[in-house]
Amino acid sequence: MPSELTVQTVTQLAYLVAAALFILGLKRMSSPVTAVSGVRWAGVGMVLATVVTLGLMGASSFNLMLVIGAIAIGGVVAWVSGKRVAMTNMPQMIALYNGMGGGAAAAIAAVELYRGSEHGMTHLTIATIGGFIGSVSFSGSLIAFAKLQGLITKSVRFGGQKFLNLAILLITVALGVMVVSGVHSDLPLVSLFFVFALLLGVTMTLPIGGADMPVVISLYNALTGLAVGFEGFVLDNAAMIIAGTVVGAAGTLLTQLMAKAMNRSLGNVLFSNFGETSSGGGAGVTGTQKAIEASDAGVMMAYSQKIIIVPGYGMAVAQAQHKVWELTQLLIDHGVKVRFAIHPVAGRMPGHMNVLLAEAGVPYDLISDLDEINAEFETADVALIIGANDVVNPDARANRASPIFGMPILNADKAKNVVVIKRGQGQGFSGIDNALFVLDQTRMLYGDAQAALGQLIQAVKAAG
Ligand code: NAP
Repeated sequence: MPSELTVQTVTQLAYLVAAALFILGLKRMSSPVTAVSGVRWAGVGMVLATVVTLGLMGASSFNLMLVIGAIAIGGVVAWVSGKRVAMTNMPQMIALYNGMGGGAAAAIAAVELYRGSEHGMTHLTIATIGGFIGSVSFSGSLIAFAKLQGLITKSVRFGGQKFLNLAILLITVALGVMVVSGVHSDLPLVSLFFVFALLLGVTMTLPIGGADMPVVISLYNALTGLAVGFEGFVLDNAAMIIAGTVVGAAGTLLTQLMAKAMNRSLGNVLFSNFGETSSGGGAGVTGTQKAIEASDAGVMMAYSQKIIIVPGYGMAVAQAQHKVWELTQLLIDHGVKVRFAIHPVAGRMPGHMNVLLAEAGVPYDLISDLDEINAEFETADVALIIGANDVVNPDARANRASPIFGMPILNADKAKNVVVIKRGQGQGFSGIDNALFVLDQTRMLYGDAQAALGQLIQAVKAAG
């Protein structure tokens, strides 16, 4: 039999290795080249931490059976849904699974708080804070999921809503203080604390417009990490503390980056009604769009020296990434220099375009971020916009009246020619017209991105 000390040492060492794997995995996820292996590294870390924790439970324990049962059911559901989910539905899936993490952290807190006074004050305080954050993240993420899935189609707003939320927050905090300060074995009080914390997540998220949901999901992701970190302290589990802190920090950074790329502040996201109220049309765009045939656009591109491709949400909807790569290869064979310009919030989730282009086999050295490529549009013969809209709207730079004024955009309007592939006059995510589409040098190639690219490929081939 190994001594208790040996078990302790081996456990802590295993947690340290698991934590190192999480951090290295996360580091590798920051580049598309190494991202898949990063996910695997972090996954191995997670398996290691889980196995070691299960080992501590004792072989014959009934609880062990329950945990293994739960892991098996959860694992199968996650595996099947992960395989099936369409790329465009990824944000709501992330919301759902993130919510589960918050719920799990809150459940740990609930067990500790229902147990009551056998723990000290510090222990209970940490459990309560983690329980609060986890509950808000759980119910808030479920509402975010329901909104993105179209289960909740309206944003619930009424006068005095912010005061109601503030009141719920204050009541929750008061209940939390009462739980910690001695009345903690009182089951109804603990239950009431959780009811109010869950309610706060719901009332906070209900008024937020669908447009801001991805930022909110990222925020809840950070909160879930924080809650897990707190509960790691409660359970004295180093792997949970480190994993939770890493998720909390990464989620906070991602939230900030997304808010910045959309030119919003977090306060603005949480407390204003952007996205639902933006008027549509508007922002003073006048002029008419000029159409172009695929055959003419193909000839223009075949005889260009430099083309910058800007993919957007429409490319994802049409699943046109393979056709984009086919066209790119053809153009490169024609001696054209082709680059891809990726806006940080193109599509509907961070890294959306990078993932799709990587899936199609586009080499990473052809892909550039906004900062790297923006100065190059001036020297491009053609900017080919594929289902992108808001991320190339020059009003964001020039029109103070525009709702997206101040958002950094790709300078496609500086290219000598602009070819835009989209189905019709449809607006983008922010529901406003695009000044780029009516510029003198812009031509619209109307159609579904996949079909239009197919025609372009034929046209480039025909150009010899
Ligand atoms: P976008 O502004 O939403 O525009 C997409 C365009 O694609 C539409 O105007 C639509 O026009 C066209 N389209 C749709 N289906 C198509 C198809 N099958 N074939 C061809 N075109 C199609 O997209 P974006 O330029 O990528 O901008 C992203 C927007 O999402 C930004 O406003 C950003 O703030 C927001 N957002 C992004 C994230 C993120 O993390 N990436 C998160 C939240 C919000 P037609 O209907 O005329 O075809």
